[in-house]
Amino acid sequence: MLQQVNGHGSGSAAHSGESLREDLQELLGGEVPPQQLNDLTKVNPVTLETVLRCLQARYMADTFYTNAGCTLVAMNPFKPVPQLYSPELMREYHAASQPQTLKPHIFTVGEQTYRNVKSLIEPVNQSVVVSGESGAGKTWTSRCLMKFYAVVAASPTSWESHKVAERIEQRILNSNPVMEAFGNACTLRNSNSSRFGKFIQLQLNGAQQMTGAAVQTYLLEKTRVACQAPSERNFHIFYQIYKGAHAEERVRWHLPEGAAFSWLPHPERTLEGSVGTSALLLGLPEDHLLETLQIRTIRAGRGQQVFQKPCSQAECNTRRDCLAKLVYARLFDWLVSVINSSICAAPDSWTTFIGLLDVYGFESFPSNSLEQLCINYANEKLQQHFVAHYLRAQQEEYAVEGLEWSFVSYQDNQPCLDLIEGSPVSICSLINEECRLNRPSSAAQLQTRIESALTGHPRLGRDRLSPEPSFIVLHYAGPVRYRTVGLVEKNKDPVPPELTRLLQQSQDPLLKVLFPADPEDKSQEEPSGQNRAPVLTVVSKFKASLEQLLQVLHGTTPHYIRCIKPNSQAQAQIFHREEVLSQLEACGLVETIHISAAGFPIRVSHRNFMERYQLLRRLRPAITPSPHGPCPDGGRSECPPCTEPATLQGLLQEILHALPAPLHCGRTK
Ligand code: ATP
Ligand code: MG
Repeated sequence: MLQQVNGHGSGSAAHSGESLREDLQELLGGEVPPQQLNDLTKVNPVTLETVLRCLQARYMADTFYTNAGCTLVAMNPFKPVPQLYSPELMREYHAASQPQTLKPHIFTVGEQTYRNVKSLIEPVNQSVVVSGESGAGKTWTSRCLMKFYAVVAASPTSWESHKVAERIEQRILNSNPVMEAFGNACTLRNSNSSRFGKFIQLQLNGAQQMTGAAVQTYLLEKTRVACQAPSERNFHIFYQIYKGAHAEERVRWHLPEGAAFSWLPHPERTLEGSVGTSALLLGLPEDHLLETLQIRTIRAGRGQQVFQKPCSQAECNTRRDCLAKLVYARLFDWLVSVINSSICAAPDSWTTFIGLLDVYGFESFPSNSLEQLCINYANEKLQQHFVAHYLRAQQEEYAVEGLEWSFVSYQDNQPCLDLIEGSPVSICSLINEECRLNRPSSAAQLQTRIESALTGHPRLGRDRLSPEPSFIVLHYAGPVRYRTVGLVEKNKDPVPPELTRLLQQSQDPLLKVLFPADPEDKSQEEPSGQNRAPVLTVVSKFKASLEQLLQVLHGTTPHYIRCIKPNSQAQAQIFHREEVLSQLEACGLVETIHISAAGFPIRVSHRNFMERYQLLRRLRPAITPSPHGPCPDGGRSECPPCTEPATLQGLLQEILHALPAPLHCGRTK
């Protein structure tokens, strides 16, 4: 049974001295300029407009972090602010007896999680869920937090690597640029956009030292390797290789001039104009590669006879793209496994973990497909985790504990999740069903099925003016129109078995690792093409991995950081009110603040409460003369006058008056 204490901030700190004085003044209605308001729960009244005004004032005053009850709001500065992330500042937050009394910062969250792991009798794993739209600063924030943990939880041990002793935390940090090189790309919204989701588990031993880490990745956007939207780019690694290679290496690796890699259909280049180089680099015979790309094997008839059928130009292109995606996806997974094997601690060397979640942000482009559906689905899931964990569960707990509480309504995104993943019928189930039927499907068929099964759903919209089959999902972060064309094919993600067999014959040492020979060669038995039923669709695999992730999160104490993008031009000192407003609305920040301000964000056990706040018990009799005469034991007993209820406002007023004036050194007499 928990006793709950009304207060502010997500921590469990008792305020003291000067900072207590400031907080009390704010609580009692003293005028505080908006740029100095560290916590949005102190904005009065709490409305979108006042919250927006406060964030704007703080942003323009170069103050980028603001508490919002249980959440930390992180505005993207869009400019270097090195002093904000210095090791000295990290140590300051780490050494502070009450980090919550320092200025809001991601280091407060970092320190809080770090203390929570050890401070409880039963250690509880912690997680930091960093959310926000694309370009809002999630990856930056996660990186800074990792640096923070590397400083405060430094391990005394080091790893022997290439004869150079390397500290484990350095090794973990060094894995970041490698993963970003292969998994990030320049998009219309962010020049370093994460095209995969990442959950990193920082493993700590009983002495609170980081002994290792494990990385779990989610759904790499592998289609990017073969095609990108106009003005977008391929994964960073291609350009980095080009830039880093010497002239001789550029020739040896056949790097195109100006890193103009092109997997896209090229009018002047036939498949035969580019296959030689690819065969060379893939360690394959040229004619074998060409034949596999141009001729497909199908089994048909009762006897499942094997037929060979020449592919059309479009089919050849699809097979070429499929080959590229297959190689790149395996390479990425291999890279993650290599990183994991070099940073993961032995199972008996860690007891608790702090998880950092950095997934791709909510996306809405002029043209959206399965990739965006999955990305936005993941964001809906995380929003639901927040809603369930904080907005709903918190208020339900008040009811259970019999606390006086008027319910704060909030936007529950469950209906949107039902539309996407619910049963028996949802967008995912219909796309999966089309894959299962395994018929030559058309976008129109899927469109008709979605409309007949889901029309009338409150979160489904339709753009009647759209020139192509499409549907609109009214996400918590805004409406997104998805093209129906290509959804089923992308969901099947078919890999012709001939392609895998081909790659298994490669003489390239790395490809041999990525595509080890299959001793049973099961792929030979599988029919190719339309007769082959898809085993597990992209959506099904993604859903399963998301559920696994949420299970891990449910087993932790979550902390939330909401990254906000002040403008879409990625410019410093520009605050677009409309853009920020829509992000605040989308994440339900005002509701969060309302619940935090009116509610009980600090929950401590009765025993901890007494230990921390017994100071107030001693103060109270001294400042409130009891009508029953002086207290016989200085307020320590349970005598009625000392336990007489007082209003919080009155009590705070009394404490404020009782506090001596602060001296210049900040200490009280
Ligand atoms: P996506 O969902 O597309 O991966 P994201 O939320 O991870 O987006 P980031 O890549 O972290 O966004 O941030 C975008 C850019 O904003 C960074 O490359 C950096 O230039 C800038 N930025 C973000 N946070 C900060 C910060 N705290 N200080 C300075 N610049 C920042
Ligand atoms: Mg990112």
